[in-house]
Amino acid sequence: MNLDMEARLSMEQDLRRALRNNEFELYYQPQVDLRTGKIVSAEALLRWHHPERGLVQPDAFIPVAEDSGLIVAIGRWVIRTASQQAKSIQKSLRQNVKIAVNVSARQLNDPDFVEEFTLVVRETRLDPRCLELEITETTLMADTDLVLNRLSRLRTLGVHLAVDDFGTGYSSLSILKRLPVDSLKVDRSFVEGLPDDEEDRAITSLVVAMGRSLNYRVVVEGVETAEQVAFLSVCGCHFAQGFYFSKPLSAAELMKVLFERQQSPEASLLPDAGDRWPLHSPPPPIPGPWPPH
Ligand code: C2E
Ligand code: MG
Ligand code: MG
Repeated sequence: MNLDMEARLSMEQDLRRALRNNEFELYYQPQVDLRTGKIVSAEALLRWHHPERGLVQPDAFIPVAEDSGLIVAIGRWVIRTASQQAKSIQKSLRQNVKIAVNVSARQLNDPDFVEEFTLVVRETRLDPRCLELEITETTLMADTDLVLNRLSRLRTLGVHLAVDDFGTGYSSLSILKRLPVDSLKVDRSFVEGLPDDEEDRAITSLVVAMGRSLNYRVVVEGVETAEQVAFLSVCGCHFAQGFYFSKPLSAAELMKVLFERQQSPEASLLPDAGDRWPLHSPPPPIPGPWPPH
């Protein structure tokens, strides 16, 4: 216990230094439209260049940042940096780029969050419609009135809102439909077993069908194979993100990829027809419009 506490305290100090010394960097993972194969946005993912430990992934430090409250300051840096980099990519490519940013419960609960967010967007002169905030299911369900108030104010700015890791928490659908949410991001734990695992197939196709019929944009994350892409397309999933399309990229690499796409607008990231979902086990049908014609 003592050692655990010591390790946490030392990481907390390291995180404070990291903010002062600019040791953080944002990587960006593209999100692809499954109908066209084109990149439609990118998710900003935090990395830490630790002077002794090298590159540290967020799962290793975000929990400590959340417990200590440091996530509020780190999150502020993330939103500012993502907005600045989005603006600079837009200027260079003369094309709008949408960037998604992860927001944790502690940030959303901070009384100054909406005002500070508004200020950053104004300062960077980024069109708020180019920003999406990803908030986990658990955070959204925690305090409905507070969350509803904050999200509604953000939504009036034009910012898009997504439920992250959908399917892993305890979403109440009656709460969800009161919230001004645009997208559902289906958690990658359901994708891992696709397309072979029967239960993962059933869950994914049901969640996609439910999201579509409630008029959400449905995004699936953690897509790693051509067969998974093919299955998700057949299910009617709108967008996908994962190593199959691209690993998270530095801002410079993202700019390069977007530039190359701009030069060859016909190019698609979708797999060839040969990799289609095997026809011997078709996915369950997606419900049609109601009432039926
Ligand atoms: P997330 O928001 O669900 O982000 C997706 C995670 O899945 C990322 O891990 C990404 O690198 C990983 N991933 C993407 N495609 C694949 C794939 O095909 N296969 C597999 N196995 N993994 C894939 P990462 O970057 O380590 O981030 C982990 C989590 O840390 C994020 O989950 C998010 O909850 C949190 N996080 C990252 N950046 C921030 C941030 O700026 N602020 C906050 N509050 N949380 C952040
Ligand atoms: Mg996310
Ligand atoms: Mg997620």
